[in-house]
Amino acid sequence: MHRKARIAVIGAGLGGLTVAGFLQRAGFTVNVYEQAPTFSRIGAGIILSANVTKVLRRLGLEEGLIAAGIKSQSYVSRAWDTGEVMAEFVFDQASERRYGGPYVHIHRGDLHAVLERGVAPRTIAFDHQLVELTPERNAMRLVFSNGETVEADIVIGADGIRSRVRDYLLGPELPQFVGATAFRAIFPAARLNGFKIPDCTKWWGPDRHCLPYYLTGRRDEVYAIGVVPAAAWDSEETSVPSTRSQYLQSFAGFHADLQRVLEAVDGVTLWPIFDRKRNDTWSDGPSGRVVLLGDACHPMRPFMAAGGAMAVEDAAILSRCLDKFDQSAEAFRCYEATRIPRVADVQRISLENTWMRGPTDTDWFYCYDACTAPLAAV
Ligand SMILES: Cc1cc2nc3c(=O)[nH]c(=O)nc-3n(C[C@H](O)[C@H](O)[C@H](O)COP(=O)(O)OP(=O)(O)OC[C@H]3O[C@@H](n4cnc5c(N)ncnc54)[C@H](O)[C@@H]3O)c2cc1C
Repeated sequence: MHRKARIAVIGAGLGGLTVAGFLQRAGFTVNVYEQAPTFSRIGAGIILSANVTKVLRRLGLEEGLIAAGIKSQSYVSRAWDTGEVMAEFVFDQASERRYGGPYVHIHRGDLHAVLERGVAPRTIAFDHQLVELTPERNAMRLVFSNGETVEADIVIGADGIRSRVRDYLLGPELPQFVGATAFRAIFPAARLNGFKIPDCTKWWGPDRHCLPYYLTGRRDEVYAIGVVPAAAWDSEETSVPSTRSQYLQSFAGFHADLQRVLEAVDGVTLWPIFDRKRNDTWSDGPSGRVVLLGDACHPMRPFMAAGGAMAVEDAAILSRCLDKFDQSAEAFRCYEATRIPRVADVQRISLENTWMRGPTDTDWFYCYDACTAPLAAV
């Protein structure tokens, strides 16, 4: 693509900031428009597996991720009632060499602070909610809720599950509630009163699961996400306050080790889980003006801890395609052909909720390097 192309990225999430960082390094002019007035510290953590950390290393962010988060040493799957260890995955120097990167847990607020360092100063325009997207003769016109209008040659929709850019491409369609909600709580490890827990455990129940993990290398902050069935989500809010007793009640009968963790939780919130059916239209095809990445085109259930990973991989591949091809339409075709098969596998496994439940081949997922993987022939 011509380096003078004006590229607008909508959304300063994991995918948006990563694609902006790579495109800037390739010499493009990129602006990121984010609806939020600033980044806020929502009460949640995130797991970044080796296929993510090795990509973010290329933006100079790996050390920052490890300093703000924790390089996890293990992931243990345990049966909800007996506590039997069904599988254990050790993350050590040998696994880091094999996978090509560390396995990191981090507070989402801290992650955003690190990601922001991957783009040039003043790249992000906060308080810019995209409300309208219109094709002009030689560009796209973007209108924001603050009244500002800009023109761009290429628009990258990295605006998450309720993507406005997706609406433009595919027509408005609400995401679907998957019949599950997630309790989320972050609390000081001191509240465990000396009770030692592994870096990450997934407790597998028949219809629900809970995942407590550390968020810092000092192991002084814990995040516990617990997913439970729910008939409906009636609130307009993205989350509602909840309580320790509701959390405990939802995991009544689970093993004593998990009860001990849930007795320590504080500041509990409850979140609905949404996804969308698979859709393989990620761009406007021959027009070569508009393209989607991450949750904007393939939101998935969070049961493989991989939605963010897919957004980061998309970002690396899309920037490589825009760098390689003269025509954006060709770049989009290559991007879609490269990404759709892998994302479809991850979407399917996320739906099944089987990842790392027992012995699992993790190499195809963690060893993948989106910065060097072959691009599809188009
Ligand atoms: C409970 C739960 C746990 C999860 N755990 C993990 C995990 O451990 N590991 C993992 O890899 N993934 C996990 N995920 C998935 C992950 O959070 C998402 O897949 C990831 O955040 C998607 O990144 P994104 O950049 O595509 O979108 P987002 O992170 O959603 O970013 C979209 C951005 O666009 C902005 N935006 C939206 N609309 C507009 C607009 N109109 N104008 C301007 N800006 C706009 C938003 O404010 C936001 O900043 C989890 C998800 C859930 C629900």
